[in-house]
Amino acid sequence: MSENKFLLKTILPELCIELKELLKRRNIPGLTETVDSLMVFEKCVCGENACASIYTAPKPVESFGDGHENIMLDAECGMLILDVVNSEIRFIEILDRPEYKKVIDKI
Ligand SMILES: [Zn+2]
Repeated sequence: MSENKFLLKTILPELCIELKELLKRRNIPGLTETVDSLMVFEKCVCGENACASIYTAPKPVESFGDGHENIMLDAECGMLILDVVNSEIRFIEILDRPEYKKVIDKI
């Protein structure tokens, strides 16, 4: 796996736009503004065909710990779920979104 980090906005601008739109709809303060500066640290290695999930912070050794919450977004297709710890997006669960998976697979 590559040690390089990527700015999410650079590799998946469409995903950033979608996340911002969905967060605005959920009216979750403080997260929308962070989307454009999210970095991709690692991709999920669960091996599921549908999975294109990414870590947007260093992968935790065990769990995300205290202050962790899942925010399920109302995506038009597939599934987008954010793992947020203390108002910081740490992991983006992306399922059944082949257009994003194509890009994630290459990193
Ligand atoms: Zn996965």
